[in-house]
Amino acid sequence: MPHLIVVGAGAAGLAAAGQAVRLGCEVALLEHSGMPGKKILVTGKGRCNVTNDCDNQEFLRHVRTNPRFLFSAIAGFSTRDTMEWMESLGVELKTERGRRVFPVSDRAEDVRAALCRWASGARLVEQGAQSLLLEDGRVTGVQTTGGRTIAADGVLIATGGVSYPATGSTGDGYRLAAQAGHGLVQPVASLVSLVAEGGDCRRMMGLALKNVRLTLLENAKLVFSEQGEMLFTHFGVSGPLVLSASAWIRDLKKYRYTLSIDLKPALSAEQLYARIGRDFELLAGKNAANCLQKLVPATMQPVILERWGVDPALRVNQIDRASRLALVQLLKGFCVTVRERGDLQHAVITAGGIPVREVSPKTMESKLAPGLYFAGEVLDVDAYTGGYNLQIAFATGMAAARGFAAAHGLPQQQ
Ligand SMILES: Cc1cc2nc3c(=O)[nH]c(=O)nc-3n(C[C@H](O)[C@H](O)[C@H](O)COP(=O)(O)OP(=O)(O)OC[C@H]3O[C@@H](n4cnc5c(N)ncnc54)[C@H](O)[C@@H]3O)c2cc1C
Repeated sequence: MPHLIVVGAGAAGLAAAGQAVRLGCEVALLEHSGMPGKKILVTGKGRCNVTNDCDNQEFLRHVRTNPRFLFSAIAGFSTRDTMEWMESLGVELKTERGRRVFPVSDRAEDVRAALCRWASGARLVEQGAQSLLLEDGRVTGVQTTGGRTIAADGVLIATGGVSYPATGSTGDGYRLAAQAGHGLVQPVASLVSLVAEGGDCRRMMGLALKNVRLTLLENAKLVFSEQGEMLFTHFGVSGPLVLSASAWIRDLKKYRYTLSIDLKPALSAEQLYARIGRDFELLAGKNAANCLQKLVPATMQPVILERWGVDPALRVNQIDRASRLALVQLLKGFCVTVRERGDLQHAVITAGGIPVREVSPKTMESKLAPGLYFAGEVLDVDAYTGGYNLQIAFATGMAAARGFAAAHGLPQQQ
């Protein structure tokens, strides 16, 4: 029986381990965090957005880095396959806004437990992989952190990226791969909060905005625009819209990135101008300092007033057309300049990783070291929010298991 060592019992490793067992392999599953699938528990705010109910083409459009590399893996294990697989493991699913798929229970733990059941035929070794064993460039096993030597016909590195290291993803996979001669595309944060210039965000810290439109401009070019929720923090901005927008930031040294927040996306500029006119008629006797009450949340009013530049003592009925138009502009495009990405440790996704040109897209086997395989976030692939990243982990994990089984003459489909 061919023996596979899977390093890392995350989404990719658990998927691969269970599949390899079903294809007739003996599997040792190494996990150093003390809990298989620990990161699953924090996904989707504890609800786990397990995949996206879209077809393969649509899926690949949501992959930010190296979608073509995933063509074969996703053809072999699609989002539909993930849904059927989850249901077969007893996890009932529901589809929400943006075709995001969640367990009906809203419990990420149910997904984690299902993955552990799926992989239960593998032998769990609660130790880390310290180093690879290599003979004439071929991988022959692993040396564990507990000092054990485990021989194998193949090793699958499914160690994840470097974000949220408390869940066990500490970047070990990059080091192990380097031993076999692999390069590294510099890991950077993706799907991350953003640090803003100036102190305005800090003044509004804690303020959550619902139903706003967030647009990201790269210099003057629109690169992202979506409606939803975001929040101000002590360092800048965060929340679902911001995480999604962050994935579009390529190079902060080369380009200037500005977030433009439309606080009234349901109204056109003309409609908002008319609405302001009606509001101001009712407030005619008051001064400008008090004219924003119905338009924006309290913590935002001083910031808007300051940026608007109208004398706070001015009577509302004295605010002229040009100033009203300036207010419309401000409410339809409140700008925040991005200074930098939030730190990598708190990013949802690590972009970068093992260069995909060094890995076979069909089998996930290393092109440099026979017997070495990769799956999941350790690879230089990443996607936007919506369940696509877990789908990448599952699809590449399944492909690696099939690749290993096929290399040892076992049938690929089970
Ligand atoms: C807060 C948050 C929310 C998220 N929400 C979603 C979501 O809703 N939907 C979605 O699609 N994606 C989501 N993601 C992304 C998703 O969780 C990852 O893309 C996915 O878990 C990657 O799977 P993986 O198996 O490659 O890596 P991981 O899940 O990180 O697993 C790697 C495993 O390898 C182990 N390991 C590492 N080094 C060693 C070693 N040397 N020896 C032994 N074991 C080792 C680790 O302990 C870990 O268990 C979220 C991520 C975060 C941080």
